[in-house]
Amino acid sequence: MYDCIIIGGGIAGLTAAIYASRAGLKTVVIEREQTGGQALMADKIENYPGFSGSGYELICKAEEQALSSGAKIIYDNIEDVSLEGSVKTLKGENETHSGKTVIIAVGASHKRAGFQGEEEFFGRGVSVCALCDGAFFEGEDAAVIGGGNTAAEEALYLSGICKKVYILHRRDKLRADFTLRKRLESRENIEILYNTVPIKVKGEESVKALVTNRGELSLKGIFTAVGLSPNTEIFKGKLELDEKGYIKVNNRLETNMEGVYAAGDCRVKDLRQLITAAADGAAAGEEALCTKH
Ligand code: NAP
Repeated sequence: MYDCIIIGGGIAGLTAAIYASRAGLKTVVIEREQTGGQALMADKIENYPGFSGSGYELICKAEEQALSSGAKIIYDNIEDVSLEGSVKTLKGENETHSGKTVIIAVGASHKRAGFQGEEEFFGRGVSVCALCDGAFFEGEDAAVIGGGNTAAEEALYLSGICKKVYILHRRDKLRADFTLRKRLESRENIEILYNTVPIKVKGEESVKALVTNRGELSLKGIFTAVGLSPNTEIFKGKLELDEKGYIKVNNRLETNMEGVYAAGDCRVKDLRQLITAAADGAAAGEEALCTKH
């Protein structure tokens, strides 16, 4: 029986673990794959105060801090939850976990852009992570789909590896912030194609071209960056979610279920950033202490 079970080992979950275990709670982080979440895709973090480095480096440090604070990290995929009453039970693929409080920090996953061949060629030219897969396209042409901060960062990273990088954006204006837009403009091998949507991948073993509403692009890599969707499937019907599936919380990060909190990208919020996820983790870890007593 834990005092505090944290589901998800991204920056929100690891920060919650640091705060909860430093407050003396018997704390566990349950992660389904690899700690780090979306931070692992960040090549260079420039807007986390006092830190400069890759997402991987940040996560290694946060994990080390969580462990040295006394938290435990285990790997299991939570498939079902029972959150009512004073003892919460989480049914994992490997075992069932019980705790007095639960902090949900399950993050969000990449949405699909919806073009023909996106699934079929996934891992064979189509990717959601330039940092992970960009090197496969050294000296080749590639495209990034989307107009937000992620699309801009992916394109900037790829421009250092690829011959040419197209950004395909469905509207006539990028959503990415000012600094990133300026940086995109300064790269000669990045071309932004506005009002352009991908329709179909052409290729056999791997991607050879992308057909769009405005013509065909000959390229080898396609990186989709069209936003996120929360990993909250298992909480449907158990917690209050908004229409997009994000978990509703009050200003103490409490869900509608007593002793259950949500932190980071999986909750309803305005600004989804590493720093706001970490702040959520701190607040939720602290709140868990209040519930336990
Ligand atoms: P986002 O801001 O939601 O942007 C998604 C982009 O994809 C939008 O431009 C959207 O077009 C486009 N899009 C959505 N569905 C599409 C489809 N089916 N086909 C083609 N295009 C589609 O997502 P994000 O860039 O992943 O960012 C998520 C959050 O993380 C944001 O809050 C962002 O600020 C934050 N973030 C911050 C940083 C940073 O601060 N350095 C870095 C990465 C992410 P429309 O514009 O037409 O909607």
